[in-house]
Amino acid sequence: MSFETEVEERLIRYAAIDSQSDADRPSQPSTAIQLNLLSLLRDELIAIGASDVQLTDYGTVLATIPGNTDAPTIGLLAHVDTAPQFNAVGVKPRVLRGYNGGDITYPDNADLVLSPKEYPYLAEKVGDDIITASGTTLLGADDKAGVAIIMTAARHLLTNPGVKHGPIRIAFTPDEEIGRGVDARLPADLAADFAYTFDGGAIGEIEYESFSADAAEIIVKGVSIHPGLAKDKLVNAIHLASKIIATLPQAVMTPETTDDRAGFIHATEMTGGSSEMKINLILRDFELDGLAAKRNIVQQVCNAVAATEPRAAITCNFRAQYRNMRYWLEKDMTPVELARKASRSLGVTPISVPIRGGTDGSRLTEMGVPTPNLFTGMQNIHGPLEWVSVQDMALGTRFCLALVEEAAKAGA
Ligand SMILES: [Zn+2]
Repeated sequence: MSFETEVEERLIRYAAIDSQSDADRPSQPSTAIQLNLLSLLRDELIAIGASDVQLTDYGTVLATIPGNTDAPTIGLLAHVDTAPQFNAVGVKPRVLRGYNGGDITYPDNADLVLSPKEYPYLAEKVGDDIITASGTTLLGADDKAGVAIIMTAARHLLTNPGVKHGPIRIAFTPDEEIGRGVDARLPADLAADFAYTFDGGAIGEIEYESFSADAAEIIVKGVSIHPGLAKDKLVNAIHLASKIIATLPQAVMTPETTDDRAGFIHATEMTGGSSEMKINLILRDFELDGLAAKRNIVQQVCNAVAATEPRAAITCNFRAQYRNMRYWLEKDMTPVELARKASRSLGVTPISVPIRGGTDGSRLTEMGVPTPNLFTGMQNIHGPLEWVSVQDMALGTRFCLALVEEAAKAGA
């Protein structure tokens, strides 16, 4: 069976299994349905002959492909959950054979069009086999394309012992989309010298820079009293919370006004009532001093609004979420250089652009396992226009194999 046939078959099968995560549920994994895909992958790893296969009690599938030469232990990771931002129930993947370069329409949503004019990467894929959903759901190529690539590469290595490689550790994680993919036990359990997430987009992407991320929670407590008796007594938390939002930067430093290397402050949620309001914000920057400056702005705004109404209580708490993996990787670029070498060996020019987000690799790198992010081909993720080319995923598989071979050549 060709890599094309195998990755296509796997992606279609995995994508049809609903495994959406949910940030509002505290359990681990956040949704029990993720265990349906996790158990299937555990069983498939056993069936293809992987060793030490286990589904941990923190919901990660781990497995080993024993090495046959002296080389570093490499971790290969992908996440099984799909994004909570869009409907993921009833995903019906379909393959458009030999894409003709025109607009793609959808059987379950007549208004939806995927056009190569709007998405130029699609225009490069004329002749490829394109997988999409049916119009009412996301596809879940994020990150089932990564899962399909790793499974296909693993199956190939286990059936072709002539390919020289060091020990390989595989991890399929839950809850990446809600920032809870890396359990505190994962770095030790993975036991890899370095690792890669297959969670990137266009062919050639080798990413080793992510945002550094903090979250802020502002609580505004007003003074509550019957409105009929409220003169000179009531302090309305809704007005104060609105003042905070209105005082925070809006024409600059927001996600909708920034790109490239600029960070932002983003209000994600405001809830409550006249007696108490809660505002949630996320802060993003590639540099720690930029992130600290954004904390400072939020704090200053809270202080300024608090000063206008001493009877109110306004508190602001910050929490670190993840850090730019570059801070660690730039000290030892070996994992990045190996990936670049593997990419060039396939005639693919490596591209490294900073990720305006985080990956499981951001957390893992910070926890001591350097983990750049690699391409899978996935496009337009987290929405109904999500698609992936079968040929891109097959190239992702060849890339994965070239990578373990390059690492074996470099030796331990
Ligand atoms: Zn992803």
